Formats: sequence, structure tokens, C-alpha cells
Amino acid sequence: VLEAVDIRKAFGTHEVLCGASLSVQRQEVISIIGSSGSGKSTFLRCLNMLEIPQGGQLRIGAETYDFSRLRRPPRDAQLARLRRNVGMVFQHFNLFPHKTAMENIVEGPIQVLGESPKQARETGMELLVKVGLQDKADQYPQQLSGGQKQRVAIARALAMRPELILFDEVTSALDPELVGEVLTVLKDLAAEGTTMILVTHEIAFAADISDRVGFMVDGTFAELGTPQDVIYNPKSERLVRFLERFT
Ligand code: ATP
Ligand code: MG
Repeated sequence: VLEAVDIRKAFGTHEVLCGASLSVQRQEVISIIGSSGSGKSTFLRCLNMLEIPQGGQLRIGAETYDFSRLRRPPRDAQLARLRRNVGMVFQHFNLFPHKTAMENIVEGPIQVLGESPKQARETGMELLVKVGLQDKADQYPQQLSGGQKQRVAIARALAMRPELILFDEVTSALDPELVGEVLTVLKDLAAEGTTMILVTHEIAFAADISDRVGFMVDGTFAELGTPQDVIYNPKSERLVRFLERFT
């Protein structure tokens, strides 16, 4: 589905990503763990080009971008196509506050995919059922709890039928009692074969649902492998210490 090779990104003189590589197969679930500031969010943002890398290659479906040779920034149409295939869910939901749950979900399918409003609402209702919010279609974000908002945000991402969905710490802004309902949705998606990459500090959860786990240190993957290898048999002292803090 996606292959990122040697991705590099600096902000000013600060090299945040220095050669991060990751490939994702269809139906694969990959978790990224690592300390604050190690570059996890920046890496996810590079995968759908919310940040444009300065080096490395990105292959998504039939398209390949070679950032070291890129002479001009990608055109908006290219970015739109890319982001249609690579959805993203953020820590702080980013729902449109003046739109209801349903309106948030159908916006992309109608505007970008050209679905009819009727069709989009039908699919939207199926997605609300999937995330357990069938009775919240007409509520505005401010009328929903954090966990409910995040589940609407997940339904909105699913509505675009992307090939891959990126989840950036989608439970870290939630009160502890609301984390479970969002993890349950993620677990269901994983079980259905949704291709996804998630940045998370929920280590036990990551071990449970992931095919592979990557440990990011200073903008590169220091360890990458099965949960059995990375979480239960960490190689580096650094990962051992990291895991001690989070479990
Ligand atoms: P956290 O676990 O805290 O979310 P992270 O691993 O996601 O951390 P990033 O958000 O990718 O880390 O940030 C990595 C580094 O890049 C940080 O030092 C951050 O300050 C810097 N950085 C990120 N975005 C920008 C930006 N737009 N401009 C300048 N510096 C940035
Ligand atoms: Mg982050």
C-alpha cells in the first residue's frame, strides 16, 4: 500500500527525521512508539504530505515521489488525491464545530468523492452504527464527549474509504474512562483488516493489535519488528527503559 524510504525532514537546522523507512502491506496494522519529540507525528504527517519531506522516497499505490529530486512542491490536485488515499485522525479530533456529526462525516464524500447526499448519509449512518453513535447523528461536537468526538472523527476518516489510515495519539487527549471506547473501535477496525498506522502510548494495546511495532528514536526507527520482538524482547537498553516507563 505504502512504502517510505529514508524520509528526511528538518525544521530550520533541527533535523527531526533523518532517514526513517517503513513499508505497509495491505491489511497490516503498525504501531509507532517512542519518546516525546522523537519525530513520530512528523513522520505520520510526511506520509500524507501535511509536511513535505526534504529527502527520501514515498510510494503510494501507483505514485512515487522522490523528495531529493522534487523541483517544485506537489500540486494541490496531487495532494488531494494522496490524502484521499491516506486518511488521518488527530489527537484533538479537528471536527468542524458548526457541523453535526453526520455533516462532518458526509462533507468529504460529497465534496471530494462526488457522492450524492443521500448515498453519503446512508453510508454515514452505517459508519455511525459501526462506532456506536447511531443516536448522535444530529449532535454538534460541543454536545459530545471527547470519546464520542473521536469516534465521529474516525467515522469521518472511514467515510473516504482510504487505503490507509494514520492515527496520531487519538486517545491521549481523552479522560481515562473514555479511552476504552475509542480503543475498542480501533481494535474492531484492525480485526476487519483495515490498513493502519498508529502512534500510541498504549503499549499493551499496541502489542495486542499490531502486526509490527516501530520504536522511533531521533527521527529514525531504532527497532522495527513483531510485537513479540520489539515489545517483549527489546534489544536496546533505550527501548527497555522506554517500556519500563509506559507499562
Ligand atoms: P510527541 O510524543 O510529543 O507527540 P513526536 O514524537 O510526535 O512527539 P514531533 O511532533 O514529530 O514529535 O516533533 C519532533 C520535533 O520536531 C520536536 O522537537 C518538535 O519541536 C519539532 N517540530 C515539529 N513540528 C515542527 C514545526 N512545524 N516547526 C518546527 N519544529 C517542529
Ligand atoms: Mg506527536
